[in-house]
Amino acid sequence: MNTVTDIFGSMVFNDSVMRSRLPRDVFKQVQRSVNEGKRLDSEAANIVANAMKDWAIEKGATHFTHWFQPMTGITAEKHDSFISPIDGGRVIMEFSGKELIQGEPDASSFPSGGLRATFEARGYTAWDPTSYAFIKDGVLCIPTAFCSYGGEALDKKTPLLRSMEALNRQAMRVLRLFGNEDVSCVRTTVGPEQEYFLIDRSVYEKRRDLRYTGRTLFGALPPKGQELDDHYFGSIKPRVAAFMAELDTELWKLGIMAKTEHNEVAPGQHELAPIFTTTNISADHNQLTMELMQKIARKHGMVCLLHEKPFAGVNGSGKHNNWSIMTNTGVNLLEPGETPYENAQFLLFLCAVLQAVDDYQDMLRLSVTSASNDHRLGASEAPPAIVSMYVGDELEEILSCIEKNEPYGGKEKEVIRVGVHVMPKLPKDTTDRNRTSPFAFTGNKFEFRMPGASASISGPNVVLNTAVAESLRQYADALEGSEDFENDLHRLIHDVIAAHKRILFNGNGYDEAWIREAERRGLCNLPATPDCVPCYLSGKNQKLFTTHRVYTPSELHARYEIKLDTYNKVVKIEAQTMVNMVWKDILPAVSRYSASLADAAIKKEMLGAEVNTAFERETAAKLSGLMRDTAELAAAVSAANDRAMAAPDGLKRARVYHDEVLSAMEKLRACVDAMELLCERDVWPYPTYGDILFSVK
Ligand code: ADP
Ligand code: MG
Repeated sequence: MNTVTDIFGSMVFNDSVMRSRLPRDVFKQVQRSVNEGKRLDSEAANIVANAMKDWAIEKGATHFTHWFQPMTGITAEKHDSFISPIDGGRVIMEFSGKELIQGEPDASSFPSGGLRATFEARGYTAWDPTSYAFIKDGVLCIPTAFCSYGGEALDKKTPLLRSMEALNRQAMRVLRLFGNEDVSCVRTTVGPEQEYFLIDRSVYEKRRDLRYTGRTLFGALPPKGQELDDHYFGSIKPRVAAFMAELDTELWKLGIMAKTEHNEVAPGQHELAPIFTTTNISADHNQLTMELMQKIARKHGMVCLLHEKPFAGVNGSGKHNNWSIMTNTGVNLLEPGETPYENAQFLLFLCAVLQAVDDYQDMLRLSVTSASNDHRLGASEAPPAIVSMYVGDELEEILSCIEKNEPYGGKEKEVIRVGVHVMPKLPKDTTDRNRTSPFAFTGNKFEFRMPGASASISGPNVVLNTAVAESLRQYADALEGSEDFENDLHRLIHDVIAAHKRILFNGNGYDEAWIREAERRGLCNLPATPDCVPCYLSGKNQKLFTTHRVYTPSELHARYEIKLDTYNKVVKIEAQTMVNMVWKDILPAVSRYSASLADAAIKKEMLGAEVNTAFERETAAKLSGLMRDTAELAAAVSAANDRAMAAPDGLKRARVYHDEVLSAMEKLRACVDAMELLCERDVWPYPTYGDILFSVK
């Protein structure tokens, strides 16, 4: 087993394994449950479970787990062994259909945002047969959804599956209007590009801020940062190459199609892009990818940082969510077509996305928010916190010509009639691509660039799928029963463009002027988490998610609570870590250094009045001023933290954390960074930015 094709998927209970190990009719039943959501009967479930267990044991597994994604954003598993006692003190290895289909993890330690208090105390996990079971570290992992006994979703997978179903329902209605009879289901696809940093373990261990919070809370910029851009697409260092090779192999075993890897803009930053797949599987795979990156980095004496902004002033890490809509017959509905008919269908689906992004900008922004991603969004190297959409010059012109009833491409050309004319060819060339747009059409898919590197991709895709389902629902309602489909379709597309073109923006999203322009257009600008979390509760958004049966009002409320609670905890830990570092390490070190400068000055002066001690005296004086400020600012951070903790509810607390604690932390940091620049290298108690960013040789 060493060629890639042998390794690929070797730890996955996939279709080919199932075909060879399951009786034909049981295999067919599994296929049906995957494609049509039909539940397996208990007899078939037992047969599948038994085949899974035998296969897993042959691969060295001894345990199984229901693998799920609680609302923390990471994955959870509780291992049970296959062992079952029999007479004579012996055991057999057993795994029943019941254990496959449903599990009961002890759910009390997972956040429920109040859902369990109001409904049922316990939660259960339910098999998601659309995502293959796999073996990880000798454990058979069964991808599952996690719900309360009242049926409320306690996880990130359940709403994602529901949103895919919502989009499927509405997209099928629209496809029928175009006379598509061969398609039986539509799914969204995602290829998430994952950015990350690799640093040497030795520098990581010495930084309490990295260990406790995932980012550096102090640190002056190194003389050499990313200015030269020589890291981007540069040659990959041997240690990193070894890490990537092992990561690829482990991902391939799990059937994850890791494809391209390259260096990113900042020193120590890299990216991995998988080949896209169905959204819920892609979400599972991305969770596994993040887990394996961290584990394998450790094996190679490094630490993988997935935080969105581990280093201030250095490029942050995102997770570009490449998204499209695909039929089960293999047609990408966001691929411009060849015929007038295909074009018209493409344009309608494009309009559905255009309208969705405009109508639910606030939810898209909210879906990517977190304390850590706030440091990245809006900063100069990341997409701004304002959602807008880029479709490229040609497509924008086509849309504008349809809207204005003007001829495309000059006077002699004709006015485009949807459904009658072939659309002008879009260039495949991607050089004109706008890299600053948060939501860009890239030829046959959209790339949502706001998601952060550490977050699950479920949240943004739930919003995207549901919002597009809503546009499609409106179109199907309007066009079903139309007497003159071609005309009505043309008018609908015309009207959608007119109503939603304000979301289109082709300029530089990093430009200050865009913020004012966006405001003039009435687009949302929600800079930080406390600004966007209330969007969970707005009437418009509640209506969207309940209409499409993706979230109930109480499920939305739970997510509101959890988002705030997580934000508040993260900032609190950061504030406390900062204060602790100041008192325990930084001030004592600077004080010792100042004393040594004073000592040196006194000794030098004993040599005679003409000896110059300006450096020692002036530096010591500057440091003593900065030490006093640092002590005051650290006390201010603590006081602000106390005020936040005293706030009466989660939202008010988040406001204090944002407005008072984070800004106090920024001032404290500036003061400490100024001291760092004045101190002798060996005196500083932590590895510097230069030490960390260039730690992997
Ligand atoms: P680009 O040149 O736009 O970067 P790539 O082919 O390199 O395009 O793709 C970038 C990412 O987008 C990859 O993860 C890829 O799998 C994903 N991708 C490509 N096509 C689709 C699609 N139809 N749906 C979802 N993701 C896609
Ligand atoms: Mg990228």
